[in-house]
Amino acid sequence: MERTSGTDEQAVATDTAHSDVLLSDGTTAQIRPLTPADIPAVEEFHGRLSPGSIQLRYFSAHPRLSSHELERLTRNGDPDHLALVAERQGKFIAIAQYDRPVGRAEAEVAFVVDDDHQGLGLGTILFEYLASAARRHGIKRFVADTLLVNKRMLDVFAAVGFARRTSRDRDVVSVVLDIAPSQQALDAADHRDAVAVVRSMEPLLRPRSVAVIGASRHPGTIGYELVRNLVGSGLQGPVYPVNPNATHVAAIPCWPSIDAVPERVDLAVVAVPAAMVADTVEACGRRGVGALVVVSAGFAEAGPEGREAQHAAVRSAHDHSMRMVGPNCFGVLNTDPAVSMNATFAADVPIAGRVGFGSQSGGLGIAILAEAKGRDLGLSSFVSLGNKADISGNDLLTWWEQDDDTDVILLYLESFGNARKFARLARRIGATKPIVVVKSGRSRAGRRAASSHTAALASPEQAVDALFRKAGVVRVDTVEELFDTAETLVHQPLPAGRRVAVLTNSGGPGVLAADASSGNGLVVAELSAATQAALREITPTAGGVGNPVDLGASASAESYRLSLEVLLADDEVDAVVVVFTPPLVTATDDVARAIVAAADAASPERPRPIVASLLGTRSGHDILAGARRPIPSFTYPETAIRALAHAADYATWRSKDPGTVPDLDRIDVGEARRRLVGVADDDGWVTGDAALDVLAAFGIPVQPTVRVGNAEEAGEAAARMGFPVVIKAVGPGIVHKSDIGGVRLDLTTVAAVQDAYRAMRDGIGPEMTGVVVQPMAEPGVETLVGFVQDRAFGPQVLFGLGGVAVEVLEDHVMRLAPLTDVDAREMVEGIKGAPMLTGYRGSEPVDVGGLVDLLLRVGRLAEDFPELVEMDANPVIATSSGVVVVDARLRLSSEPPPPPDDTRHLG
Ligand code: ADP
Ligand code: MG
Repeated sequence: MERTSGTDEQAVATDTAHSDVLLSDGTTAQIRPLTPADIPAVEEFHGRLSPGSIQLRYFSAHPRLSSHELERLTRNGDPDHLALVAERQGKFIAIAQYDRPVGRAEAEVAFVVDDDHQGLGLGTILFEYLASAARRHGIKRFVADTLLVNKRMLDVFAAVGFARRTSRDRDVVSVVLDIAPSQQALDAADHRDAVAVVRSMEPLLRPRSVAVIGASRHPGTIGYELVRNLVGSGLQGPVYPVNPNATHVAAIPCWPSIDAVPERVDLAVVAVPAAMVADTVEACGRRGVGALVVVSAGFAEAGPEGREAQHAAVRSAHDHSMRMVGPNCFGVLNTDPAVSMNATFAADVPIAGRVGFGSQSGGLGIAILAEAKGRDLGLSSFVSLGNKADISGNDLLTWWEQDDDTDVILLYLESFGNARKFARLARRIGATKPIVVVKSGRSRAGRRAASSHTAALASPEQAVDALFRKAGVVRVDTVEELFDTAETLVHQPLPAGRRVAVLTNSGGPGVLAADASSGNGLVVAELSAATQAALREITPTAGGVGNPVDLGASASAESYRLSLEVLLADDEVDAVVVVFTPPLVTATDDVARAIVAAADAASPERPRPIVASLLGTRSGHDILAGARRPIPSFTYPETAIRALAHAADYATWRSKDPGTVPDLDRIDVGEARRRLVGVADDDGWVTGDAALDVLAAFGIPVQPTVRVGNAEEAGEAAARMGFPVVIKAVGPGIVHKSDIGGVRLDLTTVAAVQDAYRAMRDGIGPEMTGVVVQPMAEPGVETLVGFVQDRAFGPQVLFGLGGVAVEVLEDHVMRLAPLTDVDAREMVEGIKGAPMLTGYRGSEPVDVGGLVDLLLRVGRLAEDFPELVEMDANPVIATSSGVVVVDARLRLSSEPPPPPDDTRHLG
């Protein structure tokens, strides 16, 4: 499953299709809505429940469900009712439902989990799915009456993280939960998800026994190298080669089938031909194998049939609660001495260290392991993701978050599965462990012919950048840069600021380093007089001590040491770049030793990162690597500085307040939904008063707007609202009104309004079915607020200067929803024309707070209505006293909406 299927499944999970979920013990279950065909299974399930469970659910003995109850339970498809079942291997293990009594805003919720599957978080997961679906039907609260003794149920209500009120009447507790999406609920869900993901990955990355299915006796084959690497890495547990035609592989006894293996197998590495994978997975499942790495190729990468087969393999794996890496991958490894597993067929094995590495490309992955070894960059674990049918980059992030052996996370990604989950995870994990990503390939996310300005201005590449910026991910362009950055991050402290000192023995490279610094956003500031004096004393002949500090061609190793000590003690220096070109007089190794001495002697109070560039020499690198904190050394200064700049960017992100996604009042999702019924034209466009009504339901200030069908009514409406007014053409297909003479501003009399109407009607023709009449807004700054839905990334929200000159100005900022208060403010203040809003040359500032609030609401609208695929509010007129939308267009899609982000799902 490339994530298209993951996202598709998730999209419909709460309404029609099924979804795989992880329980807290790491096992899997499937969730789907009940259908009438399920009646016998529901009866069977109810029959299996213990009297105690039935009592808690129905407050009575209730041994049998009535035909009415059965019919009601399994009749899904109306917005007031949903019943979900959780099943495992076709057997029902839990049922949950909500029902909204006619005309009420809240729905009653109830669920029952069978006696064997309690305590695994199923109730909570089902609750989340119900809440997600209910929310989309405008339901705001769930209510439940629960027996006081039903501790589990009460625990679920507490655990989901929604605001709740409880009241008690004798032994019945009534709970009311506000199911509006809240940060707290999302955090609680993410936390539970992380626990389950890590559990599910234990057998994969910390197995106590490993089988190789498709083991081979022939050196050079994948089936042989896997066994040899597993044995050679000293796995702390047995290795079981499986091959019906061999008695031994690499001197280890071989088993004819997975069924024949005598002990429990935590991890099975599958290297059989693609056609045999399905049966192998099934056999592993029956045998109770814990997890799978499928090396075999010939799946999604090979075409539609392969995609089908891959999908089936995952289904079967999940049916048996096995997570799966691959297919089409080259294995996993974990260097922790307590595990010591190399389940790859790569020839080069890296040393143990503190970097976690995940690669989507197999071929590149092999090169990566070789490179890591060559650079002495130690890895904690490595996962070749292959086709990412199940285990994804998101799972790896979750694993490394809790892995004490991992400090820095590296990912080579070609595509995102659940990009929105990635954003949330990366943001959380990035706060303690840097995440560096090479994102290759241009996203092909289906772009539509763009009709809104917003859609025209947004691009998938911008979305990736926005995603990474939001999440604090360090984005690099090449694998080389990935390693350079990783070496710096894993070995050196983070810089406290962006000020660097350049220490060199030659002018040219010093200037190169200084230029590269400014080019990468670092600051090469003049050093203080005291520091300069101290440096001058060390090297009276120095070419310059301002910064770069040029010690001159005759600089000794000792002068490097002393100068570096001075720089490392300077409060105005956040990082040092040491550049060395070997002249005839000084040996590189001596200088390297001097640098190490100074670095090791530096005060640990305020550690500063050091990176080095050793030009025109191969020696010295090993010595620098021997420092207490190994000093990354590169050939060119630009390389060293780029790595340092990435570290500085990360440090800046980490120290910044991300803000919070505020709870917004005056949002009426149900009202907005009603306003969207029957108002779109054939292309899905909603314009005029209808578009403004939708915005108003989200608490967004809009200009009063009246729609009329002829000149007389237009005159009357104008007279009622007061002059001056504006009239604007409406009609199917009319989207850009000014372009066709469909906007007349500043009309001051009834007669002028009527004339303008008639002239407009004559000009545009019969597709004009009427106009909207609006009072003229106060003059102000015209801005644009909009969004476009990206299937992978969710809503991209845009802010810029607006009016009729949007394309000309091209001054805009784009961020991904959900927006925090800080995001929204940065957007407003981040455009080039920001001074027009915040005040310049004595002009009064506009209501920036109002714009921020409007952006937050627009972001929420985009999140709550994924079927609204694009939207422009243009202009939003901002004045010192407020903001108001005078024109908006929305487009409703008939395609299935992209996924909601509030239910959990594997991947
Ligand atoms: P369109 O974008 O379809 O051309 P708009 O409704 O945005 O139509 O109108 C075009 C321009 O007219 C706006 O950019 C704005 O400058 C001006 N305008 C529209 N409505 C008003 C209003 N109520 N008050 C003041 N100016 C308006
Ligand atoms: Mg407009």
